[in-house]
Amino acid sequence: MEGESIVQVKDLLKEKIRQEGRVVSDDVLKVDAFLNHQIDPILMLKIGEEFTSRFSGCEITKVLTVEASGIAVALMTGLCLKVPVVFAKKKQPSTMGEEIYCGKVRSFTREEVVQIVVDGNYLGPDDKVLIIDDFLASGEAAKGLLKIVEQAGASLVGIGTVIEKVFQSGGNSLRKQGIRVESLIKIGSLANGEVEFLN
Ligand code: 5GP
Repeated sequence: MEGESIVQVKDLLKEKIRQEGRVVSDDVLKVDAFLNHQIDPILMLKIGEEFTSRFSGCEITKVLTVEASGIAVALMTGLCLKVPVVFAKKKQPSTMGEEIYCGKVRSFTREEVVQIVVDGNYLGPDDKVLIIDDFLASGEAAKGLLKIVEQAGASLVGIGTVIEKVFQSGGNSLRKQGIRVESLIKIGSLANGEVEFLN
Protein backbone atom coordinates (compact mmCIF):
# COMPACT_ATOMS: atom_id res chain seq x y z
CA MET A 1 0.00 0.00 0.00
CA GLU A 2 1.39 3.42 -0.91
CA GLY A 3 1.49 5.55 2.24
CA GLU A 4 2.41 9.20 2.41
CA SER A 5 6.11 8.53 3.05
CA ILE A 6 6.35 6.24 -0.01
CA VAL A 7 5.03 8.99 -2.25
CA GLN A 8 7.46 11.44 -0.73
CA VAL A 9 10.60 9.35 -1.23
CA LYS A 10 9.59 8.40 -4.75
CA ASP A 11 8.84 12.00 -5.60
CA LEU A 12 12.04 13.26 -4.00
CA LEU A 13 14.05 10.74 -6.01
CA LYS A 14 12.30 11.62 -9.24
CA GLU A 15 12.92 15.31 -8.64
CA LYS A 16 16.62 14.62 -7.94
CA ILE A 17 16.92 12.50 -11.09
CA ARG A 18 15.19 15.16 -13.18
CA GLN A 19 17.36 17.95 -11.81
CA GLU A 20 20.73 16.30 -11.15
CA GLY A 21 20.73 12.99 -13.05
CA ARG A 22 22.31 12.64 -16.46
CA VAL A 23 21.47 10.08 -19.11
CA VAL A 24 24.89 8.86 -20.29
CA SER A 25 23.58 6.38 -22.87
CA ASP A 26 20.43 4.36 -23.62
CA ASP A 27 21.53 2.04 -20.79
CA VAL A 28 23.20 4.19 -18.15
CA LEU A 29 21.91 6.90 -15.84
CA LYS A 30 24.50 8.91 -13.94
CA VAL A 31 23.47 9.95 -10.43
CA ASP A 32 26.86 10.98 -9.06
CA ALA A 33 25.38 14.21 -7.68
CA PHE A 34 23.42 12.50 -4.88
CA LEU A 35 24.01 8.74 -4.82
CA ASN A 36 27.20 7.46 -6.48
CA HIS A 37 29.87 10.04 -5.72
CA GLN A 38 28.50 12.98 -3.75
CA ILE A 39 25.92 11.55 -1.34
CA ASP A 40 22.79 13.25 -0.03
CA PRO A 41 22.54 11.89 3.54
CA ILE A 42 19.02 13.15 4.21
CA LEU A 43 17.75 11.45 1.08
CA MET A 44 19.68 8.28 2.05
CA LEU A 45 17.98 8.28 5.45
CA LYS A 46 14.54 8.62 3.86
CA ILE A 47 15.39 5.71 1.55
CA GLY A 48 16.47 3.67 4.59
CA GLU A 49 13.17 4.45 6.32
CA GLU A 50 11.28 3.46 3.20
CA PHE A 51 12.95 0.04 2.90
CA THR A 52 12.43 -0.48 6.62
CA SER A 53 8.72 0.17 6.26
CA ARG A 54 8.38 -2.03 3.16
CA PHE A 55 10.13 -4.97 4.84
CA SER A 56 8.61 -4.43 8.29
CA GLY A 57 7.78 -7.62 10.18
CA CYS A 58 10.39 -9.65 8.23
CA GLU A 59 12.68 -10.02 11.26
CA ILE A 60 15.75 -9.04 9.27
CA THR A 61 19.04 -9.64 11.10
CA LYS A 62 21.54 -8.35 8.49
CA VAL A 63 21.61 -5.97 5.56
CA LEU A 64 23.95 -7.10 2.78
CA THR A 65 25.34 -5.02 -0.07
CA VAL A 66 28.43 -4.76 -2.26
CA GLU A 67 31.02 -1.99 -2.20
CA ALA A 68 31.05 0.80 -2.98
CA SER A 69 27.87 2.44 -4.16
CA GLY A 70 25.48 0.23 -2.19
CA ILE A 71 27.02 1.09 1.16
CA ALA A 72 25.36 4.46 1.83
CA VAL A 73 21.85 3.15 1.20
CA ALA A 74 22.52 -0.11 3.04
CA LEU A 75 23.96 1.72 6.04
CA MET A 76 20.88 3.93 6.43
CA THR A 77 18.62 0.89 6.05
CA GLY A 78 20.62 -0.93 8.72
CA LEU A 79 20.38 2.14 10.95
CA CYS A 80 16.58 2.21 10.65
CA LEU A 81 16.27 -1.56 11.09
CA LYS A 82 18.84 -1.46 13.92
CA VAL A 83 20.80 -4.38 12.45
CA PRO A 84 24.42 -4.68 11.20
CA VAL A 85 25.33 -3.97 7.60
CA VAL A 86 27.76 -6.25 5.76
CA PHE A 87 29.27 -5.20 2.47
CA ALA A 88 30.89 -7.67 0.10
CA LYS A 89 34.42 -6.61 -0.82
CA LYS A 90 35.72 -6.61 -4.35
CA LYS A 91 39.24 -7.56 -3.23
CA GLN A 92 39.99 -10.10 -0.54
CA PRO A 93 42.18 -8.48 2.13
CA SER A 94 44.83 -10.61 3.88
CA THR A 95 43.09 -9.87 7.19
CA MET A 96 39.97 -11.80 6.23
CA GLY A 97 39.11 -14.96 8.23
CA GLU A 98 39.67 -18.46 6.83
CA GLU A 99 36.05 -19.14 6.00
CA ILE A 100 34.85 -16.89 3.23
CA TYR A 101 31.84 -16.75 0.97
CA CYS A 102 32.24 -15.55 -2.58
CA GLY A 103 30.37 -14.84 -5.77
CA LYS A 104 31.24 -13.62 -9.24
CA VAL A 105 29.83 -10.34 -10.54
CA ARG A 106 30.06 -8.90 -14.01
CA SER A 107 30.21 -5.14 -13.49
CA PHE A 108 27.59 -3.34 -15.51
CA THR A 109 29.38 -0.01 -15.64
CA ARG A 110 32.99 -1.23 -15.76
CA GLU A 111 32.59 -4.25 -18.06
CA GLU A 112 34.77 -6.58 -15.98
CA VAL A 113 34.17 -9.66 -13.86
CA VAL A 114 35.05 -9.37 -10.19
CA GLN A 115 34.98 -11.86 -7.35
CA ILE A 116 33.10 -10.48 -4.33
CA VAL A 117 33.87 -11.84 -0.86
CA VAL A 118 32.37 -11.78 2.61
CA ASP A 119 34.11 -12.99 5.77
CA GLY A 120 32.32 -16.05 7.19
CA ASN A 121 32.27 -14.41 10.63
CA TYR A 122 29.65 -11.90 9.57
CA LEU A 123 26.95 -14.06 7.99
CA GLY A 124 25.58 -17.43 9.08
CA PRO A 125 22.67 -19.89 9.08
CA ASP A 126 20.70 -17.90 11.69
CA ASP A 127 20.66 -14.75 9.59
CA LYS A 128 17.67 -13.33 7.72
CA VAL A 129 19.19 -11.16 5.06
CA LEU A 130 17.95 -8.12 3.17
CA ILE A 131 20.06 -7.35 0.08
CA ILE A 132 20.26 -3.64 -0.74
CA ASP A 133 21.81 -1.92 -3.75
CA ASP A 134 21.64 1.39 -5.58
CA PHE A 135 20.71 0.11 -9.07
CA LEU A 136 19.18 -3.06 -10.42
CA ALA A 137 20.05 -3.59 -14.09
CA SER A 138 20.99 -7.06 -15.35
CA GLY A 139 20.84 -8.46 -11.82
CA GLU A 140 24.48 -9.62 -11.80
CA ALA A 141 25.36 -7.90 -8.51
CA ALA A 142 22.22 -9.30 -6.87
CA LYS A 143 22.99 -12.82 -8.13
CA GLY A 144 26.55 -12.62 -6.73
CA LEU A 145 25.13 -11.56 -3.37
CA LEU A 146 22.53 -14.34 -3.49
CA LYS A 147 25.36 -16.87 -3.90
CA ILE A 148 26.94 -15.48 -0.74
CA VAL A 149 23.68 -15.77 1.21
CA GLU A 150 23.33 -19.35 -0.03
CA GLN A 151 26.89 -20.30 0.96
CA ALA A 152 26.33 -18.83 4.43
CA GLY A 153 23.21 -21.00 4.81
CA ALA A 154 21.32 -17.79 5.65
CA SER A 155 17.76 -17.07 4.51
CA LEU A 156 16.91 -14.31 2.09
CA VAL A 157 14.09 -11.91 2.95
CA GLY A 158 14.26 -9.94 -0.29
CA ILE A 159 16.08 -7.36 -2.34
CA GLY A 160 15.66 -3.59 -2.11
CA THR A 161 16.99 -1.34 -4.82
CA VAL A 162 16.76 2.41 -5.22
CA ILE A 163 16.52 2.49 -9.02
CA GLU A 164 15.38 -0.43 -11.14
CA LYS A 165 15.89 -0.17 -14.88
CA VAL A 166 12.95 -2.32 -15.88
CA PHE A 167 14.05 -2.46 -19.53
CA GLN A 168 16.97 -4.60 -18.37
CA SER A 169 16.21 -8.15 -17.31
CA GLY A 170 17.50 -8.39 -13.70
CA GLY A 171 14.34 -7.54 -11.75
CA ASN A 172 12.06 -9.82 -13.73
CA SER A 173 14.42 -12.75 -13.65
CA LEU A 174 14.80 -12.45 -9.86
CA ARG A 175 11.01 -12.16 -9.37
CA LYS A 176 10.51 -15.24 -11.56
CA GLN A 177 12.69 -17.14 -9.08
CA GLY A 178 10.17 -16.15 -6.38
CA ILE A 179 12.41 -13.49 -4.85
CA ARG A 180 10.74 -10.39 -3.42
CA VAL A 181 12.22 -7.34 -5.15
CA GLU A 182 11.27 -3.84 -3.99
CA SER A 183 12.44 -0.90 -6.09
CA LEU A 184 11.71 2.71 -5.18
CA ILE A 185 11.99 4.07 -8.71
CA LYS A 186 11.23 2.11 -11.88
CA ILE A 187 12.66 3.37 -15.14
CA GLY A 188 11.11 2.11 -18.36
CA SER A 189 13.57 3.65 -20.80
CA LEU A 190 16.53 6.00 -21.14
CA ALA A 191 16.19 6.31 -24.90
CA ASN A 192 16.85 9.67 -26.60
CA GLY A 193 18.35 11.12 -23.43
CA GLU A 194 14.96 11.00 -21.65
CA VAL A 195 14.17 9.23 -18.38
CA GLU A 196 10.84 7.45 -18.59
CA PHE A 197 9.48 6.81 -15.08
CA LEU A 198 7.06 3.89 -14.65
CA ASN A 199 5.92 4.67 -11.10
P1 5GP B 1 23.51 -5.20 -12.37
O1 5GP B 1 24.49 -6.09 -11.71
O2 5GP B 1 22.10 -5.37 -11.89
O3 5GP B 1 23.62 -5.25 -13.89
O4 5GP B 1 23.94 -3.72 -12.04
C1 5GP B 1 23.96 -3.29 -10.72
C2 5GP B 1 25.19 -2.52 -10.39
O5 5GP B 1 25.73 -1.83 -11.52
C3 5GP B 1 24.83 -1.48 -9.38
O6 5GP B 1 25.44 -1.86 -8.17
C4 5GP B 1 25.38 -0.19 -9.90
O7 5GP B 1 26.54 0.15 -9.18
C5 5GP B 1 25.75 -0.44 -11.33
N1 5GP B 1 24.79 0.15 -12.29
C6 5GP B 1 23.92 -0.51 -13.09
N2 5GP B 1 23.26 0.32 -13.89
C7 5GP B 1 23.69 1.57 -13.58
C8 5GP B 1 23.36 2.88 -14.08
O8 5GP B 1 22.53 3.08 -14.98
N3 5GP B 1 24.01 3.91 -13.50
C9 5GP B 1 24.93 3.75 -12.51
N4 5GP B 1 25.48 4.84 -12.00
N5 5GP B 1 25.26 2.53 -12.02
C10 5GP B 1 24.65 1.45 -12.56
